[in-house]
Amino acid sequence: MSNTLMLSDDKLFYTLEGESEYIGQPSVFMRLSMCNLRCPGFASPGSPNGCDSYISWSIKNKYTFQQIWDEFFIEQGFADKLNNGAILKYTGGEPLVQQKKLYKFDTFLRIKMVERFRNIDNHGYARMRTDFETNATILPMSQWVPRATFTTSPKLTSNGDPESKTYKPEVLRWHVANFSGFKFVITSDKDIEEIWHKYVEDKEGINVPRNRIWFMPACGSREEHIERAPAVAEYAKAMGVNFSPRLHLLIWDKALKV
Ligand code: SF4
Repeated sequence: MSNTLMLSDDKLFYTLEGESEYIGQPSVFMRLSMCNLRCPGFASPGSPNGCDSYISWSIKNKYTFQQIWDEFFIEQGFADKLNNGAILKYTGGEPLVQQKKLYKFDTFLRIKMVERFRNIDNHGYARMRTDFETNATILPMSQWVPRATFTTSPKLTSNGDPESKTYKPEVLRWHVANFSGFKFVITSDKDIEEIWHKYVEDKEGINVPRNRIWFMPACGSREEHIERAPAVAEYAKAMGVNFSPRLHLLIWDKALKV
């Protein structure tokens, strides 16, 4: 297996986590290319392809592990950010599409970090915080635990892909067993009925605990966020789950490239 990864057009960047459990924390995002879903139901005049991470569908950015280390972690200073405690976020697209190569890269990166900073954990690797953003349809390899945590964003019927692709009970049960976070974009009370029916009080034995759920407003701008957040906050209070704003829209009025 070659030591390469396919990256999205925005590749790696440093920002603050914008949603759910680690909101506001300094983070180095590594956006991987490709996704196993399409999300046509998310299409809008501003996002005609549906997917709000459409730049991740690009497959022209093939990088060797060494190039990623040199160009981003050294030249752009992201290794220093991680060493200072920033979270490394593997996102996409769906980062688990490339998980075998990514695991190899993760090992490469941890060894490089140890060589540079001598910052070693109990397993002999660099002490790094790593979190995935995943659509929860691909089973993570068992080796990721305890190296990484997972923030899932399961897709509801409104995403427009067939349920056979978006709803994978065995993957969801794995995430519950491994304390992953579950964030849901809420457009109406119909979404909440679906969440309860399929994820919380469901027949598949998924039973996501309420304290591992985050409701977020469906919005594409600061103005829409301000308008829609109060209703979603009330839903969160009523159902006993967490509410998460979408920080990038509130601060920068943009969802990507900030
Ligand atoms: S799951 Fe995410 S990255 Fe994949 S198509 Fe849907 S919005 Fe885009």
